[in-house]
Amino acid sequence: MKTSRFTPPPRVLLGPGPSDVPPRVLLAMAQPTIGHLDPAFVGMMEEVKASLQYVFRTRNNVTLPISAPGSAGMEASLANLVEPGDKVVVCRNGVFGARMADIVGRVGGTAVLVDNAFGEAVDPDRLADALRKNPDTKLVAFVHAETSTGVLSDAQAIADVAHRAGALVLADTVTAIGGVPVETDAWGLDAVYAGTQKCLSCPPGLSPLTLNERALEKVKGRRGKPHTWFLDLSLLMSYWGTGKRTYHHTAPVNLLYALHEALVMLQEEGLEGSFARHRQNHEELVAGLAGLGLEMAVPAAIRLPQLNSVLVPAGIDEARVRADLLERFGIEIGAGLGELAGKIWRIGLMGQGSNRRNVALCLDGLRAALAAQGYRP
Ligand SMILES: *Cc1c(COP(=O)(O)O)cnc(C)c1O
Repeated sequence: MKTSRFTPPPRVLLGPGPSDVPPRVLLAMAQPTIGHLDPAFVGMMEEVKASLQYVFRTRNNVTLPISAPGSAGMEASLANLVEPGDKVVVCRNGVFGARMADIVGRVGGTAVLVDNAFGEAVDPDRLADALRKNPDTKLVAFVHAETSTGVLSDAQAIADVAHRAGALVLADTVTAIGGVPVETDAWGLDAVYAGTQKCLSCPPGLSPLTLNERALEKVKGRRGKPHTWFLDLSLLMSYWGTGKRTYHHTAPVNLLYALHEALVMLQEEGLEGSFARHRQNHEELVAGLAGLGLEMAVPAAIRLPQLNSVLVPAGIDEARVRADLLERFGIEIGAGLGELAGKIWRIGLMGQGSNRRNVALCLDGLRAALAAQGYRP
């Protein structure tokens, strides 16, 4: 097959991720590749680590980006923190909690599920019940911002319940980070991983991760090596640590330039500024949707500002609306997943994509796509 240069079509990414990457970040990535052990690169890595400490709100020494997307942060955390036979309580209120439970089994742990329906937040009381019935639980894992449903759970309450039962706590903040507060140290989260392509406005392919001393003790005290070489945190720490760096794998140099620049932008705006902007654009979107007669799928108190789940009105072909938005407006929005497939749309206002222009564009596109199906508000 003869191939020629690929040119992506113009798109506005208002789905569940990836989100639009600002030109500054794309340009950072277009700089010359240098060696991953070059002193200049090593200096940049230190800045990336410090910037990640800023976004995670932590002083943890072990704060580094895994060289693969968010799911790799999930897998790295569980593969290192769970030993064969360990009991892990996984809070499941959407697709990503289910993915965590799957990985727990694959790394030899026993997953105990605490279920809340898709569209509900994790219930700390239900978690406390499960921990009373399973006092030998070593780890509690949960998703802070469930991207499959648009729900925010109370990370601090979950961490408190887990700690009272003597368990470590692991938080998935892939969609949360940069969009809503994540207080790693203040909430006592022992291990946290994130992603770059949601509210950090960076392309996909990296998973920032942070571990506190308690989590590190668990990793160091393992009876055997984790069953993964690539995601073995002890090996990764020898490359990302502050001492003499040893080669583990070739870091994705240019992608790390992108993350560095995305984190520079976030620090220029400030985390508080970013949270406020996400909230304000979310409120404008919700008001505009109400004007179109559309209802949100999630109660206001637990709604994510960066991921808006909207109920599909009766009689509307939801897939056709998404196809229309893509073809006529270049707008990508997300479909429902799992139990919510066909019932909701997921509109992401993530990172730099959370702006007034995108809110207006999305509302305009939706109005037209719905009108094409004879919908009247
Ligand atoms: C997107 C996402 C993931 C997976 O990240 P990938 O980069 O797709 O591997 C995990 N958890 C949550 C909550 C997510 O939104």
